[in-house]
Amino acid sequence: MRRTMMLAVCAAAMAAWTSAAQASDCKGCAPIKATGQGFCDHCGSGKIYGINLASRKLYDELAGDAKAIDELKESSCPGCKSAATAKAGACKHCKVFVANGRVFRSPTAYVLARGDKVDLSAMKCEGCKTAAKAQSTCKHCKTSFVADHAYSTVGFQAAAKKALETVKAAVKDAAHCEDCAVARVSDGKCGKCKIAFEHGKPVS
Ligand SMILES: [Zn+2]
Ligand SMILES: [Zn+2]
Ligand SMILES: [Zn+2]
Ligand SMILES: [Zn+2]
Repeated sequence: MRRTMMLAVCAAAMAAWTSAAQASDCKGCAPIKATGQGFCDHCGSGKIYGINLASRKLYDELAGDAKAIDELKESSCPGCKSAATAKAGACKHCKVFVANGRVFRSPTAYVLARGDKVDLSAMKCEGCKTAAKAQSTCKHCKTSFVADHAYSTVGFQAAAKKALETVKAAVKDAAHCEDCAVARVSDGKCGKCKIAFEHGKPVS
């Protein structure tokens, strides 16, 4: 009896300790703070391309799937197979996109993922620092910036800027319907709301 009491007191103390720890310094949020990207299921919030979002579904769609790349390399579809081995590629037939070793179903996510994540504080080139802040191009390095990512061409940068606007609209969608948010970034249709999207915009 006494032992049970002790255990109960212990458990209560542990619970109080963990909830206090989570409130001030959530373990799930720590990697997001450190890397500027991720999703915390405990808090139901995440960040990607500098945008805060509260939908895990939308986050996963934007973050892509690193595990799916090996399977894609073995695909019987030649389009998928060649996309899987490129730094960035797409199989238009299967609507599968690959960038930097991640597989995407969303063209919006793919266009953004063609860039490399940059750490402003670790940047050495002054031109890049200025360009990253202004979301422009460093003439010296020919590197173009959108959010916290660097793109190798101005064409990629222009596409990424457009894609970022689509993501912002999707975050607004997610406030009332997560399926609409996913449909917007993947040119799909929300079965619940019966809204179809093309190029990030609703079509009727
Ligand atoms: Zn958290
Ligand atoms: Zn394919
Ligand atoms: Zn530079
Ligand atoms: Zn919907």
